[in-house]
Amino acid sequence: MGALPVYRWRLAPDGYATRRQLRALGLRPGGQDVAAQLERPRRRRGPLVAYLYRIDRAKPVRPMTAARWAALARANAARRTCPKCRRDAGYVIPPSLGMCPACAFPDNAPEGASWNSSPHTAR
Ligand SMILES: [Zn+2]
Repeated sequence: MGALPVYRWRLAPDGYATRRQLRALGLRPGGQDVAAQLERPRRRRGPLVAYLYRIDRAKPVRPMTAARWAALARANAARRTCPKCRRDAGYVIPPSLGMCPACAFPDNAPEGASWNSSPHTAR
């Protein structure tokens, strides 16, 4: 395996996690090699290094149980819920919008649409 990609502390790309972070997700590296490393420079000593693993190659610490699937579903539901109107958009809210299309573009809302039943306040 060649040189690992090195990232600055707190600038780790999405999809990577340290062993400790995997553990917090109920995952373990699952035999994969270290995929990248983080370095935090320190004065007078070598940098503090943390090894990153790919989340998509991680394995559950324990087999998924009904409770764990339910927790995962709740997390996904939270990502589908508009932070402004609190309605389930039916899909994951695009991060670029940050809210459901009805809130992002209230002027385009069709009259009487079910997701527009509570009127937005005028600006
Ligand atoms: Zn909304």
